[in-house]
Amino acid sequence: MLDSTKHQGMRKRLVDSLRNKGITDERVLKAIGQIPRHLFMDSSFVSHAYEDKAFPIAAGQTISQPYTVAFQTQLLEVSPGQRILEIGTGSGYQTAVLTLLGAEVYTIERQHSLYRYSLKQLSKLNYSPKKIVFGDGYKGLPDNAPYDRILVTAGASEVPKALLSQLAIGGRLVIPVGVETQEMLLFVRTSTQKFEKQKHGSFKFVPMLEDKN
Ligand code: SAH
Repeated sequence: MLDSTKHQGMRKRLVDSLRNKGITDERVLKAIGQIPRHLFMDSSFVSHAYEDKAFPIAAGQTISQPYTVAFQTQLLEVSPGQRILEIGTGSGYQTAVLTLLGAEVYTIERQHSLYRYSLKQLSKLNYSPKKIVFGDGYKGLPDNAPYDRILVTAGASEVPKALLSQLAIGGRLVIPVGVETQEMLLFVRTSTQKFEKQKHGSFKFVPMLEDKN
């Protein structure tokens, strides 16, 4: 399947609806207007790809709702060249958004089937994150730390200490925290020891899988 003018038209309407819902970062809106979301989804859902909804992907996971992708990316305040760590590659769609914004993206996925899927799909569509890792996001990715931005796309029961420690000074961590529903939290690291915390509303994510080993 390819991208078509019909899909482009649907994307334009999606972007308009995100703008109406309060997304103001024009670079984020432009990226969403360019990325063929239908090519990151299971073929049974492609006709719904430009609705502002989450949909099932493999391994009982979901591709996040476009509004959530836009909201988290806007909160992250991405600039070209920044080093970004994403936890929860999933379909690879959010990874594509960060890559298109010019960031150097490192992304971790816990489910092997999704790791393989996103690896294949991102390369097929010519999005080039720096690294796609099969592993546990609770531990972050210490080898390439510190990160200017860290984005968690699954609901965490608590804020992983490893992620706070891998954030650069001045860096931003966006993470939904909670069990049934999640509160969107933003941490800004103001010094080695200090983090400023802000709350940005309630969302619903699939749970972040904890490694029990
Ligand atoms: N950004 C993705 C969101 C997928 S849902 C998208 O838009 O498609 C969240 C993803 O986080 C799932 O793919 C899930 O398998 C993954 N995940 C859950 N726990 C994780 C962990 N501990 N480390 C890395 N990824 C994890």
